[in-house]
Amino acid sequence: MEAKLQELKKRLIEVNDLHASAALLYWDQSTYMPSGGAEARGRQLSTLSEIAHQKFTDDAIGKLLDDLRPYEESLPYDSDEASLIRVARRDYEHAVKMPASFVAEFSSHISLSYNAWTRARPDNDFASVLPYLEKTLELSRRKADFFPGYAHIADPLIADSDYGMEVASIRELFRGLREQLVPLVHQITDQPPADDSCLQQHYPVDQQIAFGLDVIKRLGYDFERGRQDMTHHPFMTKFSLGDVRITTRFKEDDLREALFSTIHESGHAMYEQGIRMDFEGTPIARGATSGVHESQSRLWENLVGRSRGFWQFFYPKLQATFPQQLGDVSLDAFYRAINKVERSLIRTDADEVTYNLHVIMRFDFELDLLEGRLAVRDLPDAWRERFTSDIGITPTDDRDGVLQDMHWYSDAIGGQFQGYTLGNIMSAQLMDAAVKANPAIPSEIQSGEFATLHGWLKENLYQHGAKFTASELMERVTGGALSTEPYVRYLRSKYGELYQF
Ligand code: ZN
Repeated sequence: MEAKLQELKKRLIEVNDLHASAALLYWDQSTYMPSGGAEARGRQLSTLSEIAHQKFTDDAIGKLLDDLRPYEESLPYDSDEASLIRVARRDYEHAVKMPASFVAEFSSHISLSYNAWTRARPDNDFASVLPYLEKTLELSRRKADFFPGYAHIADPLIADSDYGMEVASIRELFRGLREQLVPLVHQITDQPPADDSCLQQHYPVDQQIAFGLDVIKRLGYDFERGRQDMTHHPFMTKFSLGDVRITTRFKEDDLREALFSTIHESGHAMYEQGIRMDFEGTPIARGATSGVHESQSRLWENLVGRSRGFWQFFYPKLQATFPQQLGDVSLDAFYRAINKVERSLIRTDADEVTYNLHVIMRFDFELDLLEGRLAVRDLPDAWRERFTSDIGITPTDDRDGVLQDMHWYSDAIGGQFQGYTLGNIMSAQLMDAAVKANPAIPSEIQSGEFATLHGWLKENLYQHGAKFTASELMERVTGGALSTEPYVRYLRSKYGELYQF
């Protein structure tokens, strides 16, 4: 059995090497590649992913997984070997269930749809993407049907990024959260808005970048195994456990952009850097799910990076970096500015309190569309109506409404958004557990010390990679099921203090 496991590992690592090479090409495309390289790069990426797919779906891998089943069953569920075989089998079954002809049809449709969207959004022209979106919905339903036995048609689509989570439980969680958030947004936005003009001054880019790098070095991002470069849409990428990179972007007239996206991506990266090195190249050498991943970017960005304690330490340094801009701005004013809550149209610009309402709305629309309760052509009106009732303002056009996110134009309808809010919910529950285990964490944050928190996350979460599902992790780490209670308590306490209610 040992020999078969080694053979499986060897084959999986080869597949991983191809994916990692593709990731490097993609990183280069998004950072330094001249535009003239675009066409060939697209071809190279698809060649690599085709070879990786062929290698991975080879019958020999299926045979090894079958042969290894009794061995896997003889081992404890949480052993490294059983986990590796289990996760590899899950990935394998996912890859072989969809026929190659469907994968090709889906991807060629999506590239047309994405193209149409890049023109439709600036033109505010939903009608031009309508036929594409209708086809995407049909293809999304067909995709789900390759995975029969689901309780809800969105379940297999959700499993793509949040394996182990299902509509029934997510819907329940989100409904409860929405009931708490809608009145909270009203309580806050009925008051005069925070003044964030101090953030919208001229901030030279070089100093912004240097400050951000200094912050994430202190948080624990390892520059021996990572680096940061500039891009249009920030992301984290990994070529191996020894090379986990982040990208960022900046605005010279808004201090928030580079700083918080840098902290966000470093949260994703610290998760990957914390995975056990002996998992290298295998299917368990990655974050558990998109929700768990997002819990880490959000924990560092919001629960740490937008906390008062964090800025008690860093604000004097920020003032010293930008004395002209911030010399006369108090810590209190700065803290209010970076936590400004407002009714706004764009999800990616939304604050902590309103953000999840943007997400839950999209999640509900995905279910309505897949269930056939909402027609694609009625989506813009449904969007305006729901937006008005949840967030309290009405988008005046589709550009800032249903056309704003690329997700439905570049992938399936279903499973695209839940991870963002699941991540927020988990982030508070995990932080609670960390502080319970180490009550000194909040005061350490005030002194710019993050080793205890980082070490706890590494020990309890990061090192396991993809061995466990999100629910298994939450049970193991926090001793309870996923719950919105810590997150709502966190928001109420932080914003109750800021807005006195
Ligand atoms: Zn993220």
